[in-house]
Amino acid sequence: MRDKHCGLVSGDDIGKVINLAGWVFRRRDHGGLIFIDLRDITGIVQVVFSPDISQGAHERAGDIKQEYVLKITGKVEKRPPETENPNIPTGTVEVLVSSFEILNTSKPLPFQLDEEEPNESLRLKYRYLDLRRPEIQKIFLARHKAYRTTRDYLVNNGFYEIETPFLTKSTPEGARDFIVPSRLNPGMFYALPQSPQLFKQILMIGGFDRYFQIVRCFRDEDLRADRQPEFTQIDIEMSFVDVDDVLAISEGLIMSLYKELKGVPADFQIPRMKYADAMELYGTDKPDLRFGLPLTDITGIFQETEFGVFRKTIEQGGIIKGLVLKGKTLSRKDLDTAVDTAKAMGAGGLIWIRKENDILQSPIVKFLKDEEKSSLSGTFDLSNGDVLFIVADSKDKANDVMGRFRLYLGERFDLIEKGVDRFLWVIDFPLLEYSEEEKRFVARHHPFTSPKESIRNFNGDYESIIARAYDLVLNGVEIGGGSIRNYRMDEQMEMFRLLNIKEEDAVEKFGFLLEALEMGAPPHGGIAFGFDRILMMFLGLESIRDVIPFPKTQKGTCLMTGAPSNIGQKQLNELRIKTVVK
Ligand code: ASP
Repeated sequence: MRDKHCGLVSGDDIGKVINLAGWVFRRRDHGGLIFIDLRDITGIVQVVFSPDISQGAHERAGDIKQEYVLKITGKVEKRPPETENPNIPTGTVEVLVSSFEILNTSKPLPFQLDEEEPNESLRLKYRYLDLRRPEIQKIFLARHKAYRTTRDYLVNNGFYEIETPFLTKSTPEGARDFIVPSRLNPGMFYALPQSPQLFKQILMIGGFDRYFQIVRCFRDEDLRADRQPEFTQIDIEMSFVDVDDVLAISEGLIMSLYKELKGVPADFQIPRMKYADAMELYGTDKPDLRFGLPLTDITGIFQETEFGVFRKTIEQGGIIKGLVLKGKTLSRKDLDTAVDTAKAMGAGGLIWIRKENDILQSPIVKFLKDEEKSSLSGTFDLSNGDVLFIVADSKDKANDVMGRFRLYLGERFDLIEKGVDRFLWVIDFPLLEYSEEEKRFVARHHPFTSPKESIRNFNGDYESIIARAYDLVLNGVEIGGGSIRNYRMDEQMEMFRLLNIKEEDAVEKFGFLLEALEMGAPPHGGIAFGFDRILMMFLGLESIRDVIPFPKTQKGTCLMTGAPSNIGQKQLNELRIKTVVK
């Protein structure tokens, strides 16, 4: 139907008669001439209807409206210099239409494609219109390139792309499964995979050495801004490797993607930080390193304190943590807001101490001894104007609150370095964490993660066993994570015992893996990256919905198709399912 794409018409075509096809993006009538920006996936080109070229075409062009689909025939001409448009690649030429065909018409649109920010519900309902917008197309062309970069990089490094099933048994990643009823096995259900975890391990046992997949994962979680019920991972597993091997391959992949999507060379070494240090310094396992403001444990200063709040915390085995904000002028209102913010984050209280005229000022200074005050001054190198914030609580709570409070200060006082990306490997995670809900230790990553040392050393403190697990963090957001796995049956069973998972339960859930581990399983490990999240961050977008072609709303619905929906009684009968909610 066409000789070229619209956005590819160039100076080389001047003088040629060509056929083009596309959508009417904008239309302007000027002194007897009608100008149309004809658009397709490659961009726009100006086409001109002039009575001097074709009286008939010019007359019929009066009917053309926005988003009509046209096929035109015309001669490419150089634009008069004063009408050139340097903002578009085709800006030096135009096509003078000799004949055209309206291939399809369009009703008036629910929103304008060149609107600044169309309403998101409308965009999702009429996603096909939204997808026509050049800035949205740019995102999915970038996504397309990212798939290719991923494949090229991994294939060049000896990886094989292999698919794993969607209709499967629940995999234990800790979130809720999406369930699919089995018609052939009434009363039985498949689960959609939260990740291909067990399959990728089985592929290593199957001898494939290096596997990858760009794969959809499904987790039935409550949705937050950066979550979607179905999302895409770059899933990787490797045989005969240890932590450094997985991190090296991952760094190469991330650098290739960074270069492709950001267009700037990426030749950086990603620093590593132990989980324990990340918690100590930043109160979180995903520190944002675009600004400083580290936390300091000041429990030691208050061993003999007479200040009740601190004394009680120390007696109960808690800690006291502080951070200092320097070089900012804080009003009394700023301080009150800071206290309220920390409380909203779950702090029992937040103490502030300000140095002014060389003395420490705070509602609590009267309870502090001179040596405590001078220790504080010395530890934080306090100058006039500096404000020290302190939280006293259990270790986990104090870290959590101070970690989040640090982020608040970073944003509120504009401390975050702009336009930079700070990657970080967080390594040496604890193998376990305590689940209040289940009243037992659970695997922090997943139960197939191998410990760095024998789990017999476990002393009841969840931090006492380190796992060979790692996360990749970018600007305070986790973008990937994985581990080296248990590859011997005895190690895996020991882990299940530690987690209080009964042997028969383990066998019922993952018997196939356990059996496979006993038939020559090689040492192996891997990682998975959040593909959508990486795109969102590398492209500088706000929401994960922006990088997913057909995303769901916060309530898990698709506004275009209307999913989820009721199904007919016949289908329910076939599945032998009775619904309680109508
Ligand atoms: N399956 C894990 C996840 O989805 C990643 C891994 O351990 O490789 O988080």
